[in-house]
Amino acid sequence: MIKPFVPQLVYIEPRALEYPLGVELKEKFEKMGLEIRETTSHNQVRNIPGKNHLQQYRNAKSTLVVGVRKTLKFDTSKPSAEYAIPFATGCMGHCHYCYLQTTMGSKPYIRTYVNTDEIFDQARKYMEERAPEMTRFEASCTSDIVGIDHLTHTLKRAIEYFGKTDFGRLRFVTKFHHVDHLLDAEHNGRTRFRFSVNADYVIKNFEPGTSPLDYRIEAARKVAEAGYPLGFIVAPIYIHEGWEEGYKTLFEKLDAQLPESARQDITFEMIQHRFTKPAKRVIQKNYPKSKLEMDEESRRYKWGRYGIGKYIYSKDEEHELREHLESYIDKYFPNAKIEYFT
Ligand code: SF4
Repeated sequence: MIKPFVPQLVYIEPRALEYPLGVELKEKFEKMGLEIRETTSHNQVRNIPGKNHLQQYRNAKSTLVVGVRKTLKFDTSKPSAEYAIPFATGCMGHCHYCYLQTTMGSKPYIRTYVNTDEIFDQARKYMEERAPEMTRFEASCTSDIVGIDHLTHTLKRAIEYFGKTDFGRLRFVTKFHHVDHLLDAEHNGRTRFRFSVNADYVIKNFEPGTSPLDYRIEAARKVAEAGYPLGFIVAPIYIHEGWEEGYKTLFEKLDAQLPESARQDITFEMIQHRFTKPAKRVIQKNYPKSKLEMDEESRRYKWGRYGIGKYIYSKDEEHELREHLESYIDKYFPNAKIEYFT
């Protein structure tokens, strides 16, 4: 996806219009000539057009719902932050492996919340509880927040909000390159801007509806030049023919593009491909032609916390993946911090 996301259909909760951002978005979408409907609650949008499941699923992913976030308690988020900060839910991307398919179930439409000040207030309470410890907030647990931010600028406000806090840090990850409006945000180094990257094969086959790799890397360069601490999540690390070369090429590209100044404070997170049985069923329903390999027999089963275990690579494969990727990081980014491999 080269062009920034434009929804095909917009729903607005009446209560959202009690907030300035709600009014602003309504006016903006009217000017853009988008179809706007009313919905009583962002939790139960009905009548998304489409004759069958696949059509409805596709249409839902181009539908934006403007609502008020009622649950202000944040989920705890591991391993990269203490809390998940909820600015949006859902994503217009079509990554075959995306876990939002399971977590969002029958509501794959995109929701953006306009009561941002209430969300910031809640974040402030969490920071106060933990001070003087640092509290990290992850803004991309339930969406790809950058992908819709050119429309809402919520993330930009959040970056500037955390830029002024003493004990708060913001982080998020994206597969989109539409970052220009975020470059002049007063981040004060308190936001870590991460990009999700992968071998070309994975991006081409399993990540439709997101930005091409070269665009993401170009955006990473701009973000680094704007002084943001930078990070990369390599996920899902996926075994395919020629994967060693595929991942090596990825690191060569990063090395060729990233400025020297970005390399002293740069992080890498690595997540091998995994799936659960329920996720596999949903993926097969949403992307019936996907080539994504999900063969339980060739994987290792790992018990999960809520009784739903996941299938990961065998010990030997995991070891090989880890060795290769860590060696590329050591070679091209010797000062990087590897946060985890899971
Ligand atoms: S970009 Fe991220 S959130 Fe969006 S579909 Fe892909 S994996 Fe899911």
